[in-house]
Amino acid sequence: MARGPGSQLQATLPGPLLDAIRSTWGFDTLRPLQTEAIAASLADQDALVVLPTGGGKSLCYQAPPLLTNETTVVVSPLIALMKDQVDGLRLNGYAAAGLHSGCTDDELAETRAALGRGEIRLLFVSPERLLGDGFVEWLKRLPQPTGRPGVRRFAIDEAHCISHWGHDFRPEYRRLATLRRHFPDACIHAFTATATERVREDIVAQLALRDARVLVGTFDRPNLTYRVVPRVDRDEQIAEIVGRHAGEASIIYCISRRDTEGVAAMLRERGVRADAYHAGLETERRRRVQEAFTREKLDVVVATVAFGMGIDRSNVRCVLHAALPKSIEAYQQETGRAGRDGLEAECVLLYSGGDAARWSMLFGKSAEEAGSPPEILQAQFGLLDEMQRFAAGMTCRHKILSEHFGQPYAFPNCNACDVCLNEVDAVPDSTVVAQKIVSCVARAMQHSGCAFGAAHIVDVLRGSRAQKIIQRGHDRLSTFGLLHDVPRPSLLSYVNQLLDQGVLARSEGEFPTLGLNPASREVLAGTRSIALLAPKQPAARAADDAATALSDAERELFDALRALRREIADEHGVPPYLVFSDDALREMASVRPGSPDALSHIRGVGAQKLAAFGQAFLARIAEWSGEHGLALDARRPSRPRKKPSTGRLSPAKQQSYERFGRGESIESIARAVGLAQSTVLGHLADWIGSRRPADVTAWISPGEYQRVAEAAQASGLGFLKPIHDALGGEVPYERIRIVVCHLRALQPAATSTDAAG
Ligand code: ADP
Ligand code: ZN
Repeated sequence: MARGPGSQLQATLPGPLLDAIRSTWGFDTLRPLQTEAIAASLADQDALVVLPTGGGKSLCYQAPPLLTNETTVVVSPLIALMKDQVDGLRLNGYAAAGLHSGCTDDELAETRAALGRGEIRLLFVSPERLLGDGFVEWLKRLPQPTGRPGVRRFAIDEAHCISHWGHDFRPEYRRLATLRRHFPDACIHAFTATATERVREDIVAQLALRDARVLVGTFDRPNLTYRVVPRVDRDEQIAEIVGRHAGEASIIYCISRRDTEGVAAMLRERGVRADAYHAGLETERRRRVQEAFTREKLDVVVATVAFGMGIDRSNVRCVLHAALPKSIEAYQQETGRAGRDGLEAECVLLYSGGDAARWSMLFGKSAEEAGSPPEILQAQFGLLDEMQRFAAGMTCRHKILSEHFGQPYAFPNCNACDVCLNEVDAVPDSTVVAQKIVSCVARAMQHSGCAFGAAHIVDVLRGSRAQKIIQRGHDRLSTFGLLHDVPRPSLLSYVNQLLDQGVLARSEGEFPTLGLNPASREVLAGTRSIALLAPKQPAARAADDAATALSDAERELFDALRALRREIADEHGVPPYLVFSDDALREMASVRPGSPDALSHIRGVGAQKLAAFGQAFLARIAEWSGEHGLALDARRPSRPRKKPSTGRLSPAKQQSYERFGRGESIESIARAVGLAQSTVLGHLADWIGSRRPADVTAWISPGEYQRVAEAAQASGLGFLKPIHDALGGEVPYERIRIVVCHLRALQPAATSTDAAG
């Protein structure tokens, strides 16, 4: 399994592609397996890419078209996410489009036209759309810049949806099995974060992948801290945990819709910006919640598992399970939504023994409704059982998760789970405590001739004088007040642990009661010893990664930059994380770049974003640092100091740059250097952005420049299309792009720019 830096492998990708990745996304190194996946695609080899959530699957299918210029079709079940993905790519100056039920007729027509002109490198479609009326035939004839028409590359995202062994089977995905028949020569890449062997085999078989490269990444997520905490007082615990992440993003998962509503309301009462999200809400309401969350207008989403997939935000700092998830796969996927930006995040599971029974009931009900075969139900119970063992166990969480995905975990202490962080302590004299609890259950039953719930037993043990206890005469039991010095939540936790360990029994139903079983009698007889764990309160905030830890002042600057990001995002109607990631903002706050050059060396700052947003961020950093007496350029940025525009340029780009300096035309450079005109135009845009020449009349007449500039004044430098339309389509996009790049480069402190499409 590939772990560690992928840098040695990068030699296998063509230099121009690495340059393109650098200038488009500002990434200098590739993550493990990205190189292999991209290389397989360029070699027209099928592949199954299994990487955990946040592992960087998207880049694997986004990169190849930068080199081939051909259209890749990406199939995704998540229509809600398509728009964000497309917007994000466009912000990076990458031509992408989506075709789905949410598009207007005009948008559909426009996308089809752009595809027909070979302008779109990545097309996102839903499976229904792909296999709907005549679309496949149309794709077979789609013109490609390389000559031979027809789409030859497909990426199937969330490919596990094709398998009913997976945890998210979708019947409409099953129909993708016909794709191979329609496109016998195409290269198909399947992507998933679900790794069980059976699902993998199913994906390869269903999609008829040929001689597929199977690339399985490392599943461990070292930046996530896992905690399993006995659930004693759900609302208090949730409020406390969410409070640790005030002002940051959290996702809370509940089993039922009603729970999501209740928890969201409880948090709102406490002043938290929280909302519920589940399948029972109207589409419009769901869309609004999701949009508010991605745009950082909402901090906490309380969701049911079913709709978790529609929620995306890379800076989620906490994923909280209010109850047991139904499988380790689901848990891995749901917790995987935390810390996708690679920064530390916390995953807390509030667990109680009764959760599994709730799931069993739900499984049974839905199997009955769907009439599914007994194997599926059995598979579900098996998965649930594994999850329960994970929660009740006291082994390093990272280790168990890694091993579950077939990967040995070499570290003796992960330093990032409740077990390794020593947040759990053994209760002194556990066996005696257990005997007191079990005998209280026995005495109460004997005395009253019926069984009681955990809360009642706990109250008796603590010596409560509540009316219900006096009335039943339970204050006269020999076990009354026997554990009066143990706090109530801890005592409830011990009862749950005894249930989990099978030394107490619990009845089914809405008000479960405690009972005895043979193991309980062993405890009473003193022939069985018991280990109980006392939950400790975790530290106020997960320890910051030393490399990214911010001082208080830097933290304030980080918050100021987040505010700026939100302003810019609002202005452009996109989610903030698409402007810059938290990771980039943190580095900005600690490095405090004082020039566009320094800013360009911050991880995640590509050429397009530098041109579009650079001035605004530089201005805010300079202003803030001045006010607070902090130095600019305080630290070395993470990306190499070597400037792309000197040594880093590809030979072809270097030649273009030299010729731009002499004012040569695009056509003549394309001919002389042997590049497509579109490539040279891209070089010119970069050159204008970095060199900021006084005029660009070598490539556009002064009169036309004037017209474009005037139109741009009215519509802003955001998108090219409004300018194009304002000029009645008379000026081609290439020349509009030149003017817009130039105007951006000359702007003193631009906040109002966006990507050139
Ligand atoms: P996945 O689809 O596997 O869940 P994404 O493709 O959304 O993951 O990537 C997760 C995050 O990692 C994104 O914010 C993305 O920009 C970032 N990322 C991807 N590849 C790299 C890389 N080579 N270097 C730095 N960041 C990367
Ligand atoms: Zn651990």
